[in-house]
Amino acid sequence: MKVVIVGAGFAGLQCAQRLSGRPVDVLLIDRNNYHLFTPLLYQVASSLLNPSVIAYPARAVFRGSPNVRFRVAQVTGVAFDAKVVQTADGGRLPYDCLVIATGSATNFFGMISVERAAHGLKDLPEAVALRTHVIRAFEGAARETDQAALRARLTFVVVGGGPTGVEYAGALSELIHRVLIRDYAELDLRAVRVILVEALDHVLPAFFPALSEDARKRLERLGVEVRLGARLLDATDGRITLSSGETLAARTLVWAAGVKPAELDTALDVPRTRSRRIAVDEWLRIPDCPGAFAIGDAAGVTQDGRELAMMSPQAMQEGRYVADAVVRLDRKQPLRPFRYRDKGIMATIGRHAAVAQVGPLSFTGPIGWFVWLFVHLYSIIGYRNRLVVLISWAWNYVFYDRPIRLVTRGRDGTEGE
Ligand SMILES: Cc1cc2nc3c(=O)[nH]c(=O)nc-3n(C[C@H](O)[C@H](O)[C@H](O)COP(=O)(O)OP(=O)(O)OC[C@H]3O[C@@H](n4cnc5c(N)ncnc54)[C@H](O)[C@@H]3O)c2cc1C
Repeated sequence: MKVVIVGAGFAGLQCAQRLSGRPVDVLLIDRNNYHLFTPLLYQVASSLLNPSVIAYPARAVFRGSPNVRFRVAQVTGVAFDAKVVQTADGGRLPYDCLVIATGSATNFFGMISVERAAHGLKDLPEAVALRTHVIRAFEGAARETDQAALRARLTFVVVGGGPTGVEYAGALSELIHRVLIRDYAELDLRAVRVILVEALDHVLPAFFPALSEDARKRLERLGVEVRLGARLLDATDGRITLSSGETLAARTLVWAAGVKPAELDTALDVPRTRSRRIAVDEWLRIPDCPGAFAIGDAAGVTQDGRELAMMSPQAMQEGRYVADAVVRLDRKQPLRPFRYRDKGIMATIGRHAAVAQVGPLSFTGPIGWFVWLFVHLYSIIGYRNRLVVLISWAWNYVFYDRPIRLVTRGRDGTEGE
């Protein structure tokens, strides 16, 4: 049986790994040649980690798996009737079973001005661009003579109070107040503002209210100004307008407020859920598309009347489930419906605090941070990467140091960006 998996993210990689050594031919396709560990992207964007420790070459994962091949390609379409996957380089790849695991993309909800002005934090190039932008903002501020322009350069607005926005705002504030403060002695860093904007009246909406409140207080202790109940309306010419009527002069806008299905998924003519994810049945199959499954962020999986969140544990469990389903189909055995088992959620706030929610239990502060630390270290692919991440965290913990603060110029000698 030929199995084609599109996307080597959390869902697709788990599926391919589970199929390794099974009596099926697997072709895993991704537009990048690596698997990205997104939960630590914000640490790349805040100068703590090198990109290479959170991105693992996909081919290296399957070195010892003769039945799993990997190919870099941009998938552009699927002919479900003919059971063929189409790629941008003209490839036509036949399948018996197809697994769509293409993840999600940043959603600006049609706000063109915001899309133009904002930095996203969804993939590696965006994280590196944001890191570079922040260092450049400080370099620009160091030579700025106009006070209003200086304040705009040093005002950082992060939109979205979910885990990504909270984690990045906390990490950015620490980067500035613990590290950059020592690099830029000539700057009056009282002009610095890190502002987190959230439309709801609390951050981390998926968490218990007490944990959300704990996170908000910790952010404020780190120097982050938290604006609750405010939506971003416009971002034009360095002026950011909020629904509360407040206007902020800021040269940095980070958008962490929404995701939507990735480009390929929107191009497919398949049934959708209300959130525009691919509708699947309880076996994660796409209705009326024989042999096709959708998993991870791409798939709208409904359980107990609610759609599962776009998060990595859901994606990984779905990936493993579909791998088992494929083997069962191959053996002509009946399928059991998919059921997600909730293992908890967590978010870190700064260098040594986190909130974690596991069943009825909740953890905050340093204990939460140790839970977060252990889970993330365990989940990173590759022993070397785990070791480097652990050393980087320990170094930062002891010395308050974020070493990745290089800004490289383009090949033509310009500053690029
Ligand atoms: C900054 C950030 C932080 C996050 N933090 C957490 C966290 O702490 N905990 C948590 O549980 N979740 C977190 N998430 C969410 C988590 O990353 C996603 O839920 C998870 O990655 C979904 O897995 P997936 O396999 O569906 O998609 P992804 O992991 O995004 O993988 C999709 C893959 O498909 C590939 N692809 C897409 N389109 C095509 C195409 N047309 N052709 C070829 N390849 C394609 C992409 O290159 C990518 O490799 C975070 C997300 C972000 C962006």
